Amino acid sequence: MTSPERFHRRFLRGEPSCEMRNRIAAPGTIGNLSIGEHTPQEAVAVPLELMLRGDLQEWNAVAGYAGVDPTDFLSVRQFHGAGVAAASSDRPRPWSPPEADAIVSNDPSAAISVRVADCVPILLADDTGRHVAAIHAGWRGTAKRAVIAGIEALQALYGVRPERLTAAVGPCIGPCCYEVGGDVLDGFRVAGHHPEILAAWFSPAEAGRQRLDLWRATRDQLEGAGLLPPNIHISELCTKTHADVLHSYRADGKAAGRMVGVIRPKAF
Ligand SMILES: [Zn+2]
Repeated sequence: MTSPERFHRRFLRGEPSCEMRNRIAAPGTIGNLSIGEHTPQEAVAVPLELMLRGDLQEWNAVAGYAGVDPTDFLSVRQFHGAGVAAASSDRPRPWSPPEADAIVSNDPSAAISVRVADCVPILLADDTGRHVAAIHAGWRGTAKRAVIAGIEALQALYGVRPERLTAAVGPCIGPCCYEVGGDVLDGFRVAGHHPEILAAWFSPAEAGRQRLDLWRATRDQLEGAGLLPPNIHISELCTKTHADVLHSYRADGKAAGRMVGVIRPKAF
């Protein structure tokens, strides 16, 4: 099990002893985070425990931490699909969040983001740092291959080859805590995933239920899309197991806060 501190050291700037939710990825770096008040900037006072739901002040503070104007902190209306939104430099302004579960960008003046509470946040950057993606995938998005759609969009729009990508996969619900019904396995079958793959991702649990390993599934999809194994970094932090420091829908139900995965292209 990777500790929060170890993941922090690998992806986020700051003192490793601090909780992840008090940190943000610096512009141009990759990371997944839940954000509080103790950031390098200290410019905007926000509550220690950000919920990141409807409070505009919280989101404006997050944009400030990412170093962008709030109008350039770009999100999507996530609906557990595999649609990709392009947030390129020549996008129409103002940004009107489209229905999608992935965003790609080549605009260093913008930060792109996805929100999660147990789902998988995946951040991608190529080796120039100038082309990035943020992808949200729960079991539905994984079944629909949302991360592969994001990689294909980077390739189609910006000519990025998958072997030049690095992936940071943030905290999400782990196989330790992710029991699902047989309908979820059926959903993957209907989506055409090979039985051998499904045998690696699912394992039987009690009372006819299944245990789903989204860490493994995400890694397999990233590798299947052409990323090199050393460039795939999975935090392997379970949100429910670490519900004291991470937001988890399974732990907190409808009251759960959200975490946000943010990435911003490097400037030329
Ligand atoms: Zn767990």
